[in-house]
Amino acid sequence: MDKCSFCGTTREDANLLLAGQTGFICDECVFRAHDILKEELRDIDGFDVDSVDVKKPAEIKAFLDEYIIGQDEAKKYLSVAVYNHYKRIQNQDKTGDVEIEKSNIVLVGETGTGKTLLARTIAKLLHVPFTIVDATVLTEAGYVGEDIESLLTRLLQAADYNVEAAERGIVFIDEIDKIARKGDNPSITRDVSGEGVQQGLLKLLEGSIVNVPPQGGRKHPDQKMIPVNTKNILFIAGGAFDGIDRKIGQRLNTKAVGYSASKESDAVDRENLLQYIAPQDLKSFGLIPEIIGRLPVLTYLNPLNREVLRMILTEPKNSIIKQYTKLFELDNIELKFDNDVLDYIVDKAVEFKLGARGLRSICEAIMMDAMFDLPSKDDKEFVVTIEYATKKLEKINMTRLSVA
Ligand code: ADP
Repeated sequence: MDKCSFCGTTREDANLLLAGQTGFICDECVFRAHDILKEELRDIDGFDVDSVDVKKPAEIKAFLDEYIIGQDEAKKYLSVAVYNHYKRIQNQDKTGDVEIEKSNIVLVGETGTGKTLLARTIAKLLHVPFTIVDATVLTEAGYVGEDIESLLTRLLQAADYNVEAAERGIVFIDEIDKIARKGDNPSITRDVSGEGVQQGLLKLLEGSIVNVPPQGGRKHPDQKMIPVNTKNILFIAGGAFDGIDRKIGQRLNTKAVGYSASKESDAVDRENLLQYIAPQDLKSFGLIPEIIGRLPVLTYLNPLNREVLRMILTEPKNSIIKQYTKLFELDNIELKFDNDVLDYIVDKAVEFKLGARGLRSICEAIMMDAMFDLPSKDDKEFVVTIEYATKKLEKINMTRLSVA
C-alpha cells in the first residue's frame, strides 16, 4: 500500500501523497520540512553577529572606499567606531571590570554628501539589520506623529522580527539637527518638537529595554509589545546642521581673542569650518548635552566639489554610469558616454545646485528616451554624445529635477 516514506501515513489518511522515484511524501511532511528548512536557512543565511567576521578598521575603510568618494575623515572615524562596537559585542564576557562603552556616532555634513550612503554601506559590510529613520517624524507620545519607539519597529521589521538580530543592528537617524532646541536658552518656552524628542531618544541611545509595538504606530492599540534591548544597537545620527559653521567660527574667534592670537588661528581654513566641529558646537546648535554625551563619536563630511561629483559619476563600484551600462548590457547593447557628456552632467548639477543626488536625475532625463526606444531595436551599440545629451536636457525644465 502507498504510504508516506517519512511518517507512514497511508494514501487514504493523507490529503495528498506525492510520489518520488522510490517513495512518497505526504502534505503534512512537506509543510514540516518547509518549516525546518526555514529555521535552518535562517541560521545559515540570517543575521548573526557572533559569526560576523569583523574586519579591521583599515579593511572597513577600504570597503567604504569602493562605494564612497572622498570623506576620508568620516570614513576613518566610522571604521574605528564600528570596529570597536562589534569587538565590544563579541567579547562581552572577556572585558572583565572594564566596561567598554558604546560608540554611537554623529555625522555632520551638508545634505547629499554621503551620510546615509556611509551608514548603509557599513550595514552591508556587516550584514546586520539596518534601518533609516527620519528624526522629523518622531514626536513625543501624545502628539501627532510617530512614537520614538517606532524606530525600533522599523529595525525589527528589517530583521524579519528576529529580536536577537535587531538588538545588534544599526539605526541611522537622519536629520537629527531638526530636533534641536530652538534657541540656546534651556528655559525658553517648552518646545515639543525638539527637546521632548531628544529626551525620548536618550533612553534608546544609552541602552535600555524598550517595549516596541511590532506594527508600529498607534493604530493597533492591542498589539503585544516586544521588549528590545538597545544596549548593543549602534545608532548613527546624521544632519546638515545648517548654520553650524557660524557657531564654529564664533567659537574659533573667541579663542583667538586674547593676548596670544596665535599662529594656529591664522591657519584656520575659513572655507570649510566643519572640520573643526566639536561637541560644544552641537550644544550651541540646540542638542541637549545628554544626547551629545551619548553620541560620543563626532565627525564631518566635506561639501562635494566638481572633481568629487565627476568621480561619483564613474568611480564607485555601483556608480550611476556603471549602472546604466549594466542595464543596457542586459539588452545586449554596449553603452558609451563621451567624456564631455560626463563633464556636462556635472556642470548642470553644479549650476542648478543639485548636488550628488541631482546627478542621477540629470542622467535619467538624458537617458529616458534611449531606455524607452532601444530595447525594441536591434542596435548593438549606443553612444551618448554631447549633442544628444544637450538636446535631451534642453527639453527638460531643470527646476523639476531639483531634489530636496
Ligand atoms: P546625505 O545622507 O548626506 O543627505 P546621501 O548619502 O543620501 O546624502 O547621498 C545621496 C546620494 O548621492 C547617494 O545615494 C550617492 O549616490 C551620492 N553620493 C553622495 N556623496 C557621495 C560620495 N561621497 N561618494 C559617492 N556617492 C555619493
